[in-house]
Amino acid sequence: MNIMNFTKVVIKNLFDKPVTRAYPYKKREYPERTRGKIEIDIDSCIFCGICSRKCPTGAIEVKRDEKLWSIERFGCIQCGYCAESCPKKCLSMNQNYTEPDAKKLKDTYIQNIEEQA
Ligand code: SF4
Ligand code: SF4
Repeated sequence: MNIMNFTKVVIKNLFDKPVTRAYPYKKREYPERTRGKIEIDIDSCIFCGICSRKCPTGAIEVKRDEKLWSIERFGCIQCGYCAESCPKKCLSMNQNYTEPDAKKLKDTYIQNIEEQA
């Protein structure tokens, strides 16, 4: 790179906006179709287990007797198969990701049977 090109790059960079973001103060806004964290509407779940069987990483556990649905957050690869295959459409992907952590994170949801009766 000759000196003229170098000077042009320096001047351009002095007046351009920074290409980086001041994370965590400025968080990124993800596009509408981002495949982020799986959410469940536990009250609509029928505990059929299809999501668990479809999950390629085995991140989802369903216990029909206990009306329990759980997900190993860092085992999920955001493929979306579970949400696509749920017959009750009670799974969805929001636009955020699970916060990083040093340990495994399992989120467990239990349906309130009394409220459904
Ligand atoms: S596929 Fe849907 S209804 Fe069936 S267990 Fe999974 S979340 Fe519940
Ligand atoms: S998005 Fe994919 S990896 Fe994550 S829980 Fe659903 S099926 Fe499993």
